[in-house]
Amino acid sequence: MQRVVIIGAGQAGVQAAVTLRSEGYDGALTLVGEEIYPPYQRPPLSKAYLSGELVRERLFLKPDAFYSETACELRLGVAARQIDRAAKTVSLSDGTSLAYDRLLLATGTRVRKLPLPGASLPGVYYLRGIDDVDLLRPEMRAGARLVVVGAGFIGLEVAAVAAKHGLHVTVLEAASRVMARAVSPQLSAFYEREHRAHSVVFRFGAALEAIEGADHVEAVRVQGEHVPADFVLVGVGVVPNCEIAQAAGLVCDNGIAVDEYTATSDPDIFAAGDCTSHPAFAGGRVRLESVQNAIDQAKHAALAMLGKPVPYREVPWFWSDQYDLKLQIAGIARPGDVTVLRGLLDSRKFSVFHLRDGVIAAVETVNAAPDYIIGRKLIAARAIIAPERLADISVPVKSLA
Ligand SMILES: Cc1cc2nc3c(=O)[nH]c(=O)nc-3n(C[C@H](O)[C@H](O)[C@H](O)COP(=O)(O)OP(=O)(O)OC[C@H]3O[C@@H](n4cnc5c(N)ncnc54)[C@H](O)[C@@H]3O)c2cc1C
Repeated sequence: MQRVVIIGAGQAGVQAAVTLRSEGYDGALTLVGEEIYPPYQRPPLSKAYLSGELVRERLFLKPDAFYSETACELRLGVAARQIDRAAKTVSLSDGTSLAYDRLLLATGTRVRKLPLPGASLPGVYYLRGIDDVDLLRPEMRAGARLVVVGAGFIGLEVAAVAAKHGLHVTVLEAASRVMARAVSPQLSAFYEREHRAHSVVFRFGAALEAIEGADHVEAVRVQGEHVPADFVLVGVGVVPNCEIAQAAGLVCDNGIAVDEYTATSDPDIFAAGDCTSHPAFAGGRVRLESVQNAIDQAKHAALAMLGKPVPYREVPWFWSDQYDLKLQIAGIARPGDVTVLRGLLDSRKFSVFHLRDGVIAAVETVNAAPDYIIGRKLIAARAIIAPERLADISVPVKSLA
């Protein structure tokens, strides 16, 4: 193999480049990225970078020297437009094309836009990249009225930063609780209470009708009522970037469909990160939006491209920072799981274990890193532990492993 092309210069793309080189690949390596920035981490965008505690330089995943030292050619500000699978070439937006022996698609996701009248008014923001935060940050002035649409991780992280900065925050959510897609009802209730304690106002079951304003957003109309806004942050999920894969005839199903070795339906094309749907650790197929998945799947993709396939079976994990609360989640909770609370909600340091047929399937921890670390091990081992023992904080968590 002489030529590897990676489309998407994000978390997964750069990890694949790192692993290819560390595994001894010495052929040509090109990383194509639509953004003008070298690969960077997104998690701080809605946390420390938004709040101004982290400078931009700290976002970049590798120093510039990494790319020259590893002979990884960066083609930034250029989008891949079309894959010709027969000729094994990718054509780029600058009119050039690249030949490949193995191709990795690490194209990530893009934000889902609000399909509402007024949604493109100035003052309506989304959050996916560095440029989005650079536009949003000047709006974060004490006393300003922020309406957050969507009580998912990003919406709530922005709400937390804004509340800490003295803004008036209203969160509009279609579901009946916060982070409903991802966490247990206990955790939703806990986080809602924490946000309310910081004066965040919630409206659940919110059916949005329009964003209103003459030449700038002034309000959001919800069920006939006008919620005043100086600016709006929309966090209603993402859409996988799989159009070029689809156009090339690759199987896509809520993302680019890959097998447990990260191969697509073309044996020379692999995919990793947010853009993929893949066999899940706990059965079925999933598309995950997490740093863990981007990194681990990219490592597996690099190995598979080098002819050393290893099945991808890592336990998924994720985190979110809101106020002084570190939420860490391992495994994937499902409706119907039996939940076991370990610790006291009021102590702001506790865990919720999820049992499925008696087996530990997931754990959500708040300010409880040891529970999270042990929980991951228990999930990987498909451990069975009596709920009374899990709940008993006089039993040291280490002794559960
Ligand atoms: C604000 C925010 C906060 C987050 N917080 C957390 C967190 O706390 N914990 C956590 O685990 N995860 C978090 N995530 C999710 C995490 O950042 C993603 O899961 C991760 O970045 C996925 O990596 P990726 O490489 O698959 O995609 P990305 O990092 O999105 O990279 C994909 C890249 O491909 C480029 N691209 C797309 N199409 C093309 C094309 N045709 N040609 C060239 N380039 C293309 C895109 O422009 C992008 O730069 C957060 C995400 C956001 C946006």
